[in-house]
Amino acid sequence: MRVKLSDLATPGVQKITPYQPGRPAEEVAAEFGISKPVKLASNENPLGPSAMALKAMQAVHDLARYPDGNGSLLKHKIAARHDLDIDCITLGNGSNDILELVARAFVNPGDEVIFGQHAFAVYPLATLAVGGRPVETPALNWGNDLDAMVEAVTERSKVIFIANPNNPTGTWLTKNELKRFLDEVPEHVIVVIDEAYAEYVTEEAFPGYPDCTQWLEGYPNLLVTRTFSKIFGLAGLRAGYGVSSPELADFLNRVRQPFNVNSLALTAAEAALDDARHIQKSREMNQAGMAYLIDACNKRGLGYIPSAGNFLAINFSRPAQDIFEAMMQQGIIVRPVANYGMPDFLRVTVGSKEENSRLVEVLDRVMEKNAGM
Ligand SMILES: *Cc1c(COP(=O)(O)O)cnc(C)c1O
Repeated sequence: MRVKLSDLATPGVQKITPYQPGRPAEEVAAEFGISKPVKLASNENPLGPSAMALKAMQAVHDLARYPDGNGSLLKHKIAARHDLDIDCITLGNGSNDILELVARAFVNPGDEVIFGQHAFAVYPLATLAVGGRPVETPALNWGNDLDAMVEAVTERSKVIFIANPNNPTGTWLTKNELKRFLDEVPEHVIVVIDEAYAEYVTEEAFPGYPDCTQWLEGYPNLLVTRTFSKIFGLAGLRAGYGVSSPELADFLNRVRQPFNVNSLALTAAEAALDDARHIQKSREMNQAGMAYLIDACNKRGLGYIPSAGNFLAINFSRPAQDIFEAMMQQGIIVRPVANYGMPDFLRVTVGSKEENSRLVEVLDRVMEKNAGM
């Protein structure tokens, strides 16, 4: 072939670095001959899915039929949960899907999309895929600098992406900070608040943390995203949703695949929403695990970024790639975040009690070896 495919790809796609997922446990098990690796790399729920969700899925038999393209039952449940009309809800094949829909519906080639330094990797991906221009604002204390974001807005700005809490740093923004920000952002810019970890955040531990799904009234340009991948423990099924003004939801739905959420995911997500006990248990396990990991860091003089999510960015004060690799060889898979501009950090998902203690054990072994070198 004389034509280079790399010249045929759109200019935006040529600039994309593919998303790097956490390594699957099976792959690490095979490569290093480890019987039971612990995967703490993708912020998944260590408790797994709700038993109610698994049971509901087993009752799905008509897989020869297309799923409900409107996802009506699930939308009704979501609408009730947030006390919203169902036409405010857009369902996605994971919330990742919603992030792409907003880019596809609103971002022209050359339009600017603003997000912070150390933001979720999907924001630049979604932007570049449609020819948008990523505009990265410098972080403030590892978090989103809202003033810098407002200042970055121009006539060409279309979307601002903010995760609250932010992944991979775990930093979070308060109600007052975000309200003021939304009031300052001009109406021609769509603000996406990505609340993938919202269900983990409690008022007691993080006073003033907002539930932005309740803010649609005053802000027709606001889109809030949620996911079934994190506290609901359904990452493998791919289900998420956006809430917004019905007008905004209408545009997202125009570019959505007609059957973007599959039958099993719809059914499991509905059941998962009903399992309040599983959500509560997951939250409590996370709080206990987070306290344990923070204590372990403190005792070892390791720095970390205080996190409102189900993960902790640990600071090794030197490039951490070899620590990541040494831990993997001992069966603990965590996440390097050099591609997020944080080469000295590893992001660790809070696991079960057993997983967390194995993590700390292996970390000690690896650090000891390292110190001897
Ligand atoms: C995990 C995560 C998501 C969820 O992605 P899904 O596609 O719903 O699995 C979204 N945003 C952030 C910041 C995340 O960390």
